[in-house]
Order: sequence, then structure tokens, then C-alpha cells
Amino acid sequence: MLRCALLMVLLTCFTLPLPPASAQPAPVPAAPDRYLLVRCGHLLAVPGVDPLANATLVIKNRRIDRVQPGLQGPDLAKEKAQGAAIEELDLRDQFVLPGLIDCHVHLSMEFDSRIMARAVTESDAAAAIRSTLFARRTLEAGFTTVRDVGSSGGVAFALRDAINAGEVPGPRILASGEPISVTGGHGDQTNGFRADLFGVPGPKEGIADGPDECRKAVRFQIKLGADVIKLTSTGGVLSISSAGLAQHFFPDELEAIAQTAHSMGRRVAAHAHGTDGINAALRAGVDSIEHGTYLDDESVRLFKEKGAYLVPTLLAGQTVSANAEIPGYYMPMVAQKAKLVGPRIMEAFRLARDGGVKIAFGTDSGVSPHGQNAKEFGLMVKAGMTPTEAVVAATVTAAELCGINALVGTLEAGKAADFVSVHGNPLEDVTELERIQWVVRDGQVFKRPG
Ligand SMILES: [Zn+2]
Repeated sequence: MLRCALLMVLLTCFTLPLPPASAQPAPVPAAPDRYLLVRCGHLLAVPGVDPLANATLVIKNRRIDRVQPGLQGPDLAKEKAQGAAIEELDLRDQFVLPGLIDCHVHLSMEFDSRIMARAVTESDAAAAIRSTLFARRTLEAGFTTVRDVGSSGGVAFALRDAINAGEVPGPRILASGEPISVTGGHGDQTNGFRADLFGVPGPKEGIADGPDECRKAVRFQIKLGADVIKLTSTGGVLSISSAGLAQHFFPDELEAIAQTAHSMGRRVAAHAHGTDGINAALRAGVDSIEHGTYLDDESVRLFKEKGAYLVPTLLAGQTVSANAEIPGYYMPMVAQKAKLVGPRIMEAFRLARDGGVKIAFGTDSGVSPHGQNAKEFGLMVKAGMTPTEAVVAATVTAAELCGINALVGTLEAGKAADFVSVHGNPLEDVTELERIQWVVRDGQVFKRPG
């Protein structure tokens, strides 16, 4: 009966006669074009290629129109006569580069010693409101795009949509929603609580055992709005669990997740610390390994064979090992894991970098405070990268991993007008990126000095 009524409504929609032309509203005139001419003292348009001295970045509306050598810029008299608005930005004392990309953040939370109390006292609405503050800090730190790989209650989806609608300031977000985890695994947020408190989480909460539940969990997150799928292949440092850092999902489960996500056009990010879980996830066809703490020579071979990326999160490793030294900061089972990870994650990075693995920038911010993402650059250089390689990881390579390299990652014609500036040359001193001066996303200024 209901279906019949719906069909009638649809049919009616398609068969109503159009009103006569005279009754239709007059066409709305197109908004005038807006040009922004950015005079750059130094411009790193394509990380990996030498920067240009004295260049003008020409932005038309939200996109890059062209990069022009010299500070004169183009003659836009004709466009002005046609009503275009023309603005200028004098960055002659600045070094300009593409907006930075962090492939691993959690904007819905920031870890502190009260995290368990928050889980039983705070609502998703409270987390959502706080996430707008974290999003703003992230953007003001120069990160114009992030991948949020793990949040609950739909917070990251709502935040992403509000930012896209221009309702709150923040970076462009690709969000995974709930991570897919085994019962009692790293993504099981009921770990450590009384068994009767939250009930038994299932595929809708991202908890899946066996290939069928894994497929359902992936499809459910995509239905809710996931841009990317996150899975926890091994145990994790901060989960309140003594289930170790080794492999949790079996190969058939990993394959079910990767194949289901890929069949629906989503990439797969696998949290993995233990060697067995890293290598099993790579064999199953995931697109990136997050952390990769105990990766080995076989992992390096698999990364290259499969074309997968490493997202190193050195800052998270350093943060958790430092916090583990504060008595009572973490529960004993967490502190024990945290102390192991920091030094080892630097070693894993070195092995991957020397082995030629593709490395995409990611911090796990939320484990460390939001807005300090750029501290990762100094750690990457300390672990063996050149500053240029670290900047490429946070622009060109990160955009590739996220599948949005036609839009972001370099400053070339047709791409989004996302750029940042610093005073000194970050290719000489990469810590310059911890002192971002200007932030522009989609042609709109979000931060200026002072
Ligand atoms: Zn994480």
C-alpha cells in the first residue's frame, strides 16, 4: 500500500506539466569571478622540484589558475572591466608551499588521563563540539587536509560536512568512522569497562568476527558516510587490553575487509604494530599500514610488491613513551606497551625509508595534542629523511594515498587553492613548519601572522 502511494507520488512528479516560460523566475546572474594574486618571495609549487624565487600564484575563485614567474603577476584589466574582484596578498618575505596533509588524526578526541571517565560521562554531542576546536587548531597549524581514521558516534562525518558547508573552520576531511576491529581488539571501545555497561558491540559499532561480519561492518560504515575504511590488524598501545601488539584478524577476515571496501570504491588503512599483523594486512591488499612498528625486511618487500604506503606516526610513538614515564598517567598494561613503541617506531621508519617504501605523513594527533602535527617533520628528519622528502610525504605522497592528488598536494593549475607560508626555508630547517604564518584553504584566508 505504502509502496503504491510512493509510486503514485513519483509518477506525478514526472508528469506535472512545466509552467509557461513567462512564469519561470528570471535566471540568477553568476557571481563575479574573484582573483587572488599571491606575490611569493619563494614558492615551492611542486614539492620534490626546486622552489622558485619570486613567483606569483594566481587564484581564480577556489582554484589555482596558474603560477607565473616574477612578482608582476598577470594583467587582469579585462577581467576587472567585466566585474571581477581582484585581491592581492604580499608574501614577498615568505616561503609558500602547498597546504599540508596529515593522513592519520582523530579529531573527535584528545587523549588525557581522564579518557575512561569521559567514555561514561560525555555525550557524542560534547565530543562533536570539542572536535570543532581541534579542527580549527589543525587548520591553523597548516594542515588543510586530514584523514580522520577512527571516531565514534558519527562525529567525524558531521564535522566533515559542517566544514564543507562553511559552517565551522577546519581542514578538508576524509573520515573512516568506526574502525573495524575484532571483539576485544584495539577498536573495541568497551575494553576495560564492566561487561554489562555497554552491551556486546557488533558490526554496527565496527566490531566484527569472521568474514561475514567484517563485510557487514565495512558496508555499514560506508552507508553512514565513510570515505575510507580503517581496520585494526593488531593490538594497539592505548587500548585497555592485554591482548598484545600482535596479529588479531585472520587472513580471511582481512581479505573480506579489503575486498569489500575496494568493491565500494574505498581505500583501506590498517593499524598494525606486530610483524605478523603488518605482513598479513599487506598480503590481504590494504592500501596503507599505520604505525608499522615492528615491520621487517619481508614487510618492506610486501609494501613494494603491493604498492602500499607506510603512515609512520612517529609523534604518537614519542608521545606515548614520554607519557608512560609519568606515574599513573596510563594503566599499567598500557604503560608497558607504550614504553616499547617509541624507540622501535623510529627504527621501523628508517628500515622502510632505506628500503624505498612509499611514506605518507601521519601523526595520530589526538594521541598527541591537536595542532602540534608539524612536530612529526623534525622526527622524520631525525630518523633519516631529508627535509625535502618529509615535505613530499606531507603533500604529494599523502595526496596520492588519499586518492585526491588531482585536487591537492601541489600548487598547479586546476587544483584547490590550499597553501601555507613560513618565514624561513623549510627545506633547510624543517622545524620552520612548526611556525606557520599564513593558511589559505580553497582560496580563503584562515590564518594570518599575529
Ligand atoms: Zn590512530
